[in-house]
Amino acid sequence: GDYAIDLDTIVVGSGPGGYVAAVHAAELGQKVAVVERYDALGGVCLNVGCIPSKAMIQVSHEYLTAKDGADRGIETGDVKLDFDKVQEYRKQVVNRMSNGVAYLFKKNKIDVIHGTAFMKSDHSLRVINDDSAQTYTFKNLILATGSHPIEIPGFKFGGRVIDSTGLLALPALPKELVVIGGGYIGSELAAAYANFGSHVTILEGTDTILGAYEKDMVKIIEKRFKAKDIDIITGAMAKEAKDNGDSVEVSYELNGEVKTVTADYVAVAVGRKPNTDDLGLNIAGVETTDRGLVKVDAQGRTNVEHIYAIGDIVAGAALAHKASYEGKVAAEAIAGQSSVVDYRAMPAVCYVDPEIATTGLSADQAKSEGLDVKTAKFPFSANGRAVSMHSDEGFVRLVFTKDNEQVVGAQIIGNNASDMISELTLAIESGNTVEDIALTIHPHPTLSEAVMDAADVALGYPTNI
Ligand code: FAD
Repeated sequence: GDYAIDLDTIVVGSGPGGYVAAVHAAELGQKVAVVERYDALGGVCLNVGCIPSKAMIQVSHEYLTAKDGADRGIETGDVKLDFDKVQEYRKQVVNRMSNGVAYLFKKNKIDVIHGTAFMKSDHSLRVINDDSAQTYTFKNLILATGSHPIEIPGFKFGGRVIDSTGLLALPALPKELVVIGGGYIGSELAAAYANFGSHVTILEGTDTILGAYEKDMVKIIEKRFKAKDIDIITGAMAKEAKDNGDSVEVSYELNGEVKTVTADYVAVAVGRKPNTDDLGLNIAGVETTDRGLVKVDAQGRTNVEHIYAIGDIVAGAALAHKASYEGKVAAEAIAGQSSVVDYRAMPAVCYVDPEIATTGLSADQAKSEGLDVKTAKFPFSANGRAVSMHSDEGFVRLVFTKDNEQVVGAQIIGNNASDMISELTLAIESGNTVEDIALTIHPHPTLSEAVMDAADVALGYPTNI
């Protein structure tokens, strides 16, 4: 018979939002189960997002390094790429990380329920899989169902029209690749394939790729992309894809003229949509916005008091670390703690070449918030480690208040910017001033010294420029 199974807290979705929320809720004493519709745990991030993309990007850089080391004394024969092996490597990395989530669930005695969840009431849901259906009741529910790629008219996914998932898993290295959308996902993978040797065309609807980032950083990326022979076509409105079986013809409108480009694949990376349509949220009385985002308060609580939502299905940056952060806050709220989210020091990284990493506010954002700010910039061309790594392009920029010199934002573009941004995120989180950073001893020679040097610039006593 179909009797309901009772649980304290159910988490729907095992992505970086859901799995972190589940682990933390279990750590705080809840009996937790996670519902996941796919066999593999870890959501988009681990399986078809952050992790596999970084594996591909890493290999693409190693390939370039192997090819162009001659001027530093590394002589190789003909460097060849075995794309099947690249794909095998990607899968190995993903499997390892996904198994890691299974281990964490086991360690924290979290049950995994495989199947697709659908709300039955505000205290129960039904999980359906291939051969069974079961009802579960809960005291608390955390929705972490994530998002999926948006499809655009004229580009129905299938065959040679692919999304980011398809782009990560291509069966062979394409000679010609078209990427629609020059946001961070499109740009990262466009660069990786260009590094592997594909000729890539980016069609971007607005007047710039990476529009979320400041012009001086985008310029550096554009220059690199051009050096990789990537065609960046901005102001291009994608119209239609014609799949001819062994190639695809992509038409787009540019300045009122229709043009075409033929490629092996066209990848559409124009944004993502929250997975909230098929959950039956209305049955539970959970409110969403017209964009399908779940409305939540600062603890992640929806309008239904014991139902929470986190990650890509709520407002804000669709990023893995944001999902995990919200997951921890929701778990603590369920445990009766007074935790709330604070997005002031939210980092974001774009893994192009060189990397872009930002945290807190840009100068413009700070000004529009009414803050009186100054900026200080230090270039990697004056940093010994960067020069020795033949990666001297880029800079560190600090945004700080004029009156008390408190750090409110930072932008880094350069090799390993992704790892350097955390120092500045901590600085913002801790309310540090530029002097705090300048007085912090940084090891030499490191890229991170550029952060200290930027603080010296801010104080008006630059040593190294
Ligand atoms: P998801 O990771 O989407 O997980 C949701 C899970 O819920 C899925 O496993 C899904 O199967 C399951 N689910 C959905 N509906 C149901 C249901 N009804 N029943 C049962 N299970 C269900 N972010 C970064 O921070 N850094 C990066 O470098 C980065 N790179 C990316 C690269 C790519 C190519 C892509 C596509 C994304 C990238 N992201 C990156 C974004 C990141 O992947 C997402 O922000 C993150 O995965 C969101 O986490 P989440 O937990 O909200 O949802």
